[in-house]
Amino acid sequence: MKKVAISACLLGGLCRYDGKTKIHNSVITAFEDWEIIPFCPEAPLFGTPRERISVFYVNGQNRIITDETDKDVTELLIDETKRFILAHPDLDMIVLKSKSPSCGRGTTPILNDKREVIALGDGVSAALFKENYSHLEIKDETGF
Ligand code: SF4
Repeated sequence: MKKVAISACLLGGLCRYDGKTKIHNSVITAFEDWEIIPFCPEAPLFGTPRERISVFYVNGQNRIITDETDKDVTELLIDETKRFILAHPDLDMIVLKSKSPSCGRGTTPILNDKREVIALGDGVSAALFKENYSHLEIKDETGF
């Protein structure tokens, strides 16, 4: 059976920062005959609900920083995503939630220090997935 990793909030997981889901029935239906592996790097690290995080462009790099307490959580998210990649070397496809600071694929707002959107880019996990699963199709829910 083919394997697909899907952002857990698209599958109905109540794992968003606000404790809600982003369930997407067309995604779930499209993979009825696949083994679905839920992916969410944020909830295991920070709990749910949790403080919102955003991507900031700082000194030539994208950094993930908490909105209120100003804590840089980039390395935590990198480590969590790497753990997932090591545990799942044999995926056939990945479907991620758009616009998320972790999961967004080319759709995540990148902010400057005034919280102005200066570009749309990849979330930290999406960027690592593109590097480590370069042979795979990586989609987001907007294609379903
Ligand atoms: S977008 Fe990604 S990190 Fe955010 S709740 Fe969904 S699966 Fe978790």
